[in-house]
Amino acid sequence: MSIEPAAFALAVHGGAGTIRRERTSKAARAAYHAGLCRALLAGGAVLAGGGRALDAVAAAVVALEDDPLFNAGRGASLTAAGTFEMDAAIMDGRDRRAGAVAAVFGPKNPVTAARAVMDASPHVLLVAEGAAAFCRARGLAFAEPQYFETEARRREWREGMERRRAPGGHGTVGAVARDCDGNLAAATSTGGIAGKVPGRVGDSPLVGAGTFADNRTCAVSATGHGEFFIRWGVAFEVAARLAHLGQTLDRAAAAVIAELAAQGGEGGLVAIDRDGRLALPFNTPGMYRGYLKSGGAPHTAIWDEPYCVSRS
Ligand code: ASP
Repeated sequence: MSIEPAAFALAVHGGAGTIRRERTSKAARAAYHAGLCRALLAGGAVLAGGGRALDAVAAAVVALEDDPLFNAGRGASLTAAGTFEMDAAIMDGRDRRAGAVAAVFGPKNPVTAARAVMDASPHVLLVAEGAAAFCRARGLAFAEPQYFETEARRREWREGMERRRAPGGHGTVGAVARDCDGNLAAATSTGGIAGKVPGRVGDSPLVGAGTFADNRTCAVSATGHGEFFIRWGVAFEVAARLAHLGQTLDRAAAAVIAELAAQGGEGGLVAIDRDGRLALPFNTPGMYRGYLKSGGAPHTAIWDEPYCVSRS
């Protein structure tokens, strides 16, 4: 599906995977659509007010992190040890400045922690206790395990442990945007793969793997089996196809996701180019996703189906 260019535009995702249509109740579908819609409206309000793409993706991802349905921030999945380790990144397409945190626990909004690394440190990526200490020193909001933990994630973890293997379910949230000045940005945040080995870091906080933005090409936020996204340099590969092969965003994004599928790598991405064209491909049964363009209403979808339009 091709989505026409616009003055400003924003796309979000809430993870890709085996989302079973028949097992998703009407109420659950409505809750996912509402969560995606809230994120689009939060980011859209920034863009409609003349704000920057960077602030828009941060606002959209904070909304998704705060929603316990999605695997990021509140509602993040647990490691094999039953703990939380979160990954997040943000990138500014104007100058490729980026900030990220990995395997961090404590900051209420990991994407805000990533933003702090970008804005207030000379570094790109901080991990674990060092990242938490940096955020604490910056006065960022922290939360206790009870805030992040949901009954559904604890059940997922318990069942995985009973089967004596990691549950392996995934999910992530992310956003890409183009503002009225033509600037691009991307942000991604995740609890990572459920039951992961403590210390494991996925693609989400890695520039060029799960997150990338450059005004000259595109902004990308990915979701899926992180090890494949790291090895295939997915987010950068989409941008490289635009820069070096002159491909359209649609074509480049579809090719990268198809190549990944051929290797057994499950997932999808949302991407936006410098003209505000969007691409939201995935190779899994479903991907929670949505987009909003200047002058339009939020569009959200889960499976391969017509987008649901929210009249707000
Ligand atoms: N990409 C994330 C990771 O591997 C998980 C996901 O997007 O589903 O940590």
